[in-house]
Amino acid sequence: MDAVLLYAWRVPRDGLGHGTSGNLSRRVGANTVRITPSGIPFPRLSDADLIDLRVEDGGVLAGHWQPSSEWRLHCALYRQHPSVHGIVHVHSPFATVFACLGRPIEAVHYLIAKVGPRIPVVPYATYGTQLLAERVSEGLMTSRAVLLENHGLVTVGATLAEAYQLALDVEWLAGLYYRTLSIGQPRILDEAEIARVQSAFRHYGPDRD
Ligand SMILES: [Zn+2]
Repeated sequence: MDAVLLYAWRVPRDGLGHGTSGNLSRRVGANTVRITPSGIPFPRLSDADLIDLRVEDGGVLAGHWQPSSEWRLHCALYRQHPSVHGIVHVHSPFATVFACLGRPIEAVHYLIAKVGPRIPVVPYATYGTQLLAERVSEGLMTSRAVLLENHGLVTVGATLAEAYQLALDVEWLAGLYYRTLSIGQPRILDEAEIARVQSAFRHYGPDRD
């Protein structure tokens, strides 16, 4: 089973999306991206439904369906971010709350250091457009996860597995931030502390404590 299919099936099970929202992809060659199709709910997908596109211009190399409506975004990110090999885009419930507020997720918990001192928001642009692709690409110059204003979340990784785990982490952080804001004023860790945590992650990995 292709990793794109494996993680697409997990999206609704893990509470990251519903219906036909969201799209995932991975690099499968120097100039090829494998991506989910448009308009088919993830649980109904099979390997034969995935689409291969040319990274350069989004031309269809293989597949029977229309590619995800965000194919421009996926292709632009692979062109402009050579180290990225997997991309997850979802409208996950808590991250999308902050996206709709145009409000970054702040360092309410040290695990945010997997991304940086905060999860930034990129300005709104209509879904599926080159302008949205450019804004997300710019946001990802300094972060591996960005909120898309009034839209959702994009995470990237050296593998699709890494991008998917990051989407789960960001959604967990967003839920935590939401809950803390609902009953009080959370303490936010400063950038120096996030830098210390990042240094510790480099030596011990993020999942020890
Ligand atoms: Zn979307």
